[in-house]
Amino acid sequence: MSVLVVVECDKGEVKKSSLEVASYGAQVAAQLGTTATAIAVGEANEANLAKLGEQGISKVLYDAEPRLKDFVNNAYTKLIATAAEQEQAQIIVLANSNIGAAVGSRLSVRLKASLATNVVDLPKTDGGQFVVKRGAFSGKAFADMVLSGDRKIIAVKKNSIEAQHEAGKTAEVSSFSAQLSEADFADAPKQVVMQDQAGGVLLPEAERVVSGGRGLKGPENWHLIEDLAKALGAATACSKPVSDVDWRPHHEHVGQTGITVSPNLYIACGISGAIQHLAGVNSSKVIVVINKDPEAPFFKAADYGIVGDVFEVLPKLTAAVKELS
Ligand code: FAD
Repeated sequence: MSVLVVVECDKGEVKKSSLEVASYGAQVAAQLGTTATAIAVGEANEANLAKLGEQGISKVLYDAEPRLKDFVNNAYTKLIATAAEQEQAQIIVLANSNIGAAVGSRLSVRLKASLATNVVDLPKTDGGQFVVKRGAFSGKAFADMVLSGDRKIIAVKKNSIEAQHEAGKTAEVSSFSAQLSEADFADAPKQVVMQDQAGGVLLPEAERVVSGGRGLKGPENWHLIEDLAKALGAATACSKPVSDVDWRPHHEHVGQTGITVSPNLYIACGISGAIQHLAGVNSSKVIVVINKDPEAPFFKAADYGIVGDVFEVLPKLTAAVKELS
């Protein structure tokens, strides 16, 4: 019996959300008196995989098949399922990411495992039950969910837990093959086209996001958002009405009907904070709101609030950030 952690990698780096997942998996393994093994997906680097020992992972499996560099749903599912069978994993932990969402449900069917998404805390195992806490109603509430059966899959929401870090500990990295066939790559994308993102930082993965709403008054004022984003090394985003009227491209629209972001820092400028917007940003670690209306709902979700006019505040904030860096 063991815990299997799915670790997503990109350009050789382990994604931050996967460091949290690795740490979560190691803590669950400790609760159950077993060890945590990771299976790496994406473009990985063995030295970085070995560093997962710092999060408490004892062994990392890695299939260097070049076609696994980009996400292929069937192939990733088979790879993870094969690793789960080999390791006799009772618990599989993955990120509540796009990849986690796509693969988690397939794995659940394939391995006959119960599945909980959007999980925000370590499980409780007293009283013979395995209970996980998950976000519900767009983050407005939490639900305790009992996972049953011999196998359980947990998708951990980003920024819900601090990744542990024990410097110098290394994990053993072993090559692994799931004997993937041509058929497993039948749904491989023909071409991956990266969207042109202001500042060159991809929104779903960004650690910092500067976002604008209707309070910016028009596309001609977006340089205020871009200047601050550039100074912070952040991605830019916007509210839905802004992309609806083509002030900004649709791939920058965040919220319930747009992209979900979970950065360390989300700066909302001239955005009211409607529930549909909050649904896509409320797992950000620190939320800063700039709005001239002190009654704007976004202030209730903010860690820091500036009541002021974006046209006055943003140039000063950008200048201050530039001075500090
Ligand atoms: P507004 O609501 O017009 O707010 C503008 C804000 O700017 C105000 O708070 C105002 O005080 C402030 N302001 C104005 N001038 C200044 C100034 N000079 N300086 C500082 N502050 C200023 N919305 C999304 O964003 N994402 C979604 O995914 C999404 N999905 C939706 C799905 C459904 C089914 C529905 C019904 C709605 C959805 N919406 C979504 C729309 C959402 O309900 C809001 O209408 C929208 O988020 C409002 O955008 P906004 O805050 O930019 O504009």
